[in-house]
Amino acid sequence: MKNTKADFDLFVIGAGSGGVRAARLAAQSGAKVGIAEKDRIGGTCVIRGCVPKKFLSYSSKFSKHNAVAESYGWHHEEITFSWNKLIENKNKQIEKLSNIYRSNLEKAGVKIFESEARIIDTNTVKLSKGDEYCAEKILIATGAKPNFPDIKGANNGISSDDFFELKKLPQNIIVVGGGYIALEFSSIISGLGSKCELLYRGDKLLKGFDQDISRIITQELQSEKCNVRLNTDVVEITKNKNQYDVVTSDGIRLKTDLVLFATGRLANIDCINKDLDIKINTHNGILVNKKYQTTVPNIFAVGDVSNSDHLTPVAIREAMIFARNEFEKDNSNYIMENIPTAVFSSPEIGTVGLNEDQALEKYKKIDIYTSTFRPLYYTLSDINVRTYIKLIINNKSQRLLGFHMVGDDAAEITQMISTLINKKIKKTDLDNTIPLHPSTSEEIMTMRDMVTKEI
Ligand code: NDP
Repeated sequence: MKNTKADFDLFVIGAGSGGVRAARLAAQSGAKVGIAEKDRIGGTCVIRGCVPKKFLSYSSKFSKHNAVAESYGWHHEEITFSWNKLIENKNKQIEKLSNIYRSNLEKAGVKIFESEARIIDTNTVKLSKGDEYCAEKILIATGAKPNFPDIKGANNGISSDDFFELKKLPQNIIVVGGGYIALEFSSIISGLGSKCELLYRGDKLLKGFDQDISRIITQELQSEKCNVRLNTDVVEITKNKNQYDVVTSDGIRLKTDLVLFATGRLANIDCINKDLDIKINTHNGILVNKKYQTTVPNIFAVGDVSNSDHLTPVAIREAMIFARNEFEKDNSNYIMENIPTAVFSSPEIGTVGLNEDQALEKYKKIDIYTSTFRPLYYTLSDINVRTYIKLIINNKSQRLLGFHMVGDDAAEITQMISTLINKKIKKTDLDNTIPLHPSTSEEIMTMRDMVTKEI
């Protein structure tokens, strides 16, 4: 059935963080909005990403905190962990969040279609049931899906999406990759008591991060429960009864109960009809301009499906800019730089601004302040946890250019520092601030250990 022209002012494909925000804002501005979602409302972040990952991450930290508790006088007879309980509670909470997203869309007057959608021409969207709708504008917010490397037996491995649905937590797990998901899941696995082998093809984990962060997290991850193998690629995986044999590039054969691929994510672009002239960039994302417009002017894209950073707050910000530009005619400039980011590994990583190499390249002469210390919290126990903080300062202007941290609460602290970087504060502004004692962030106000680097 084909409906009459312009059934909607905006049709959004994908009800994840970006799609939901854009649909709600456009509808609240008076636009007639439809949204199609083939899975549950909430998208990667809510259903199979940030939120459930954080629950698993919180859970994994109790092994360390339970050990610290002993040093504070607490004694537990026996502590056991139930994967089923964790997954059951996680699922309940995810269901709640998904329902909140749904009711927010409904309250804003957005028409929800629980269906796959395809763009068949510049103004027409076809749902899997066959209905077609005409829209003035179309927004693609379909996110990204896991990438599996092109190796023999890759189908024997799973992605992080599947990990959340495991019926039980295997005892031995191989994680392939060296980015966000690989580090976060290696920490979760080892924290929950299973053994983990992290196989990364490169020589430094977390490509693009500050080199000291990469060095420190590699040392910190390496433990009795987690073995990090750098310069190691997987060439083949074969199933062997209930286990898998993983052959590496250096000829080693490893046995494991599960292989988890954390080898990047690829844009979900299946909703685009091949005849449409929507350009895809080299990284497989949809090419957009500053208004999130694709190469077809009335079709837009935000979030992981486009060429932006794969981060939820970035998708949300892009959706806000899109909705305000297109439906409120508000062309305000939004700051899209100094995007703070955290890796919820154990220990946690927080980073914002320029890393050492980027700052040197741009400003030629920089001051680097570093501090490594044992947080007070751990000092009663024999657990040797350290916190590392690095500040990058422009030598000439003395402005703060970058902040990098490995340690507890790194994400929380980094969020605050990102405002200071956007406000272009100087090192003296930190020095002049009274430290809050005793705390981890007081260290940032008292950093003296400095080297100057120049190229
Ligand atoms: P990342 O891009 O962070 O890392 C992908 C890793 O996989 C890299 O180490 C890469 O190696 C490796 N890799 C890619 N292809 C292959 C291959 N064919 N064989 C072997 N290794 C390969 O992606 P993730 O999958 O970790 O995460 C996906 C996205 O989700 C990220 O872009 C991230 O922004 C986002 N995310 C954010 C989180 C957060 O904010 N806390 C949490 C989780 C995900 P190399 O370095 O050599 O290219």
